[in-house]
Amino acid sequence: MSDRARTILDNVFGYTDFRGQQEAIIEQLEQGDDALVLMPTGGGKSLCYQIPALLRPGTAIVISPLIALMQDQVDGLNLLGVRAAALHSGIPYGEQDQIQEDLVRGEYDLIYVSPERLLTHRMLELLDHIQVALFAIDEAHCVSQWGHDFRPEYLQLSILHERYPNVPRIALTATADQRTREEIAERLNLSGARFFISSFDRPNIFYRLAQKRNAKKQLLDFILKDHAGQSGIVYCLSRRKVDELAAWLQNQGVAALPYHAGLDTETRSRHQHQFQTTDNLVMVATIAFGMGVDKPDVRFVAHMDMPRSIEAYYQETGRAGRDGLAATAWLVYGLQDVIILGQMLVQSGMNQAMQQLERQRLTAMLGFCEVTGCRREALLGYFGELREGKCGNCDLCVEPVSTWDATEAARKALSNVYRTGQRFGVNHLVDVLLGKTNKRVKELGHQSVSTFGVGKELSQPIWRSVYRQLVARGYVTVTSESHGGLLLTEKCRQLLRGEETLELRRDRYEVHEKITVGPT
Ligand code: ADP
Ligand code: ZN
Repeated sequence: MSDRARTILDNVFGYTDFRGQQEAIIEQLEQGDDALVLMPTGGGKSLCYQIPALLRPGTAIVISPLIALMQDQVDGLNLLGVRAAALHSGIPYGEQDQIQEDLVRGEYDLIYVSPERLLTHRMLELLDHIQVALFAIDEAHCVSQWGHDFRPEYLQLSILHERYPNVPRIALTATADQRTREEIAERLNLSGARFFISSFDRPNIFYRLAQKRNAKKQLLDFILKDHAGQSGIVYCLSRRKVDELAAWLQNQGVAALPYHAGLDTETRSRHQHQFQTTDNLVMVATIAFGMGVDKPDVRFVAHMDMPRSIEAYYQETGRAGRDGLAATAWLVYGLQDVIILGQMLVQSGMNQAMQQLERQRLTAMLGFCEVTGCRREALLGYFGELREGKCGNCDLCVEPVSTWDATEAARKALSNVYRTGQRFGVNHLVDVLLGKTNKRVKELGHQSVSTFGVGKELSQPIWRSVYRQLVARGYVTVTSESHGGLLLTEKCRQLLRGEETLELRRDRYEVHEKITVGPT
């Protein structure tokens, strides 16, 4: 490997060693070959094209879909003395002209552009007149029509190869599944590229997930027991919850600050600064907090509500333990979260196909909450990474859950959904199974459906758990129209016909409640 790369790493960026596959990737580009890089967020993708940009003659063109991130990168590079600029619609015209003039004169090592800008006639003509060191296509998964970040302009980026066949290209993404990977290679014409696939594993993060009961108290217990006086991030779905929880934690003696987009800019940056510069502060935040947070000693990330997808969960929990020391990803969830997120989806104005896809991601996330094996195995498996055996560093490895034969119970639960007309939520459904003659049941006449009172052998929390797990496994879906009503899916046919058996996990708190059952 060229010593020059190492010298740049040290002199320009101030780092002593390459991380993971950075060195091999840089070498690949330096030689003029293409690369497809799959690396988790925070893994260090930027250096993979920034160093080759400095090694190769000419200007590197970096295509990035997010203007805010583009500007961050440029500012960071300028601070390091690297000649970089961005071209996008947010830059005043006069300034754009100046940048373009300088570009032609060869004054830049890197130019960041949005895909739509790159594809303009003017820009392509400009490129014909300069020496291009390489093309870096960031967030390359935006070519995938099935992903939720799809950007139609990305599809046209294949022209880069046709127009500039001798310029090496590097496509980078943190989205790992096999299908997206193949789509990127195909659509960007990268069949000859070498693939650099990094593991998504974060071995120092301990995963702990539990059902929501008294969420605030569960959180406090967790913080006091495992992370007293340490830095952490607590994510909530709504701004109101953020404010409430931050105040409540302060009352309980935990140093905590709120962060969400409803706070004014000054307060936000003050809170972020405090978090960044101290080592004992808990930031209670919406997902507005995180982009650009690069604090190495975040000891825990807690979720008071289920994130909308495993991708989001991975990214948010990934902010814990960047320093490599032990950290915890903690989460409490309930079926209510799925209902609320489903409703937000309907209100989002997304088209039907996208909503469908998002709903699948949501179910996958609930599925992850409900796994019975190793969390890490499930998480990495979702990203297409196979991992053998137990990790020994997650709640389910340390305290395995037991399962029970829930075939009969599941059949009752599903018939109950059917008999009551597939539009009621879990609370009502469980009331019917338990044979409760409350006002709602009487009004609806549900004391006369055949499943009324057939579930008295199990308790209310167990029935709730059954329904939640049936959703997680795709036997029923939560409809978005009638507030959390459950609907049967194709999948339950076999189970209802008695052609399939079903093992469900015994919820942790059920075990605790039955005092006779010791830890397994
Ligand atoms: P990604 O784009 O993959 O999310 P970044 O390129 O933003 O990740 O890098 C994440 C962080 O890691 C940045 O703060 C970056 O400076 C740092 N970093 C990257 N490579 C190295 C390295 N070889 N040594 C030390 N820190 C690094
Ligand atoms: Zn494990």
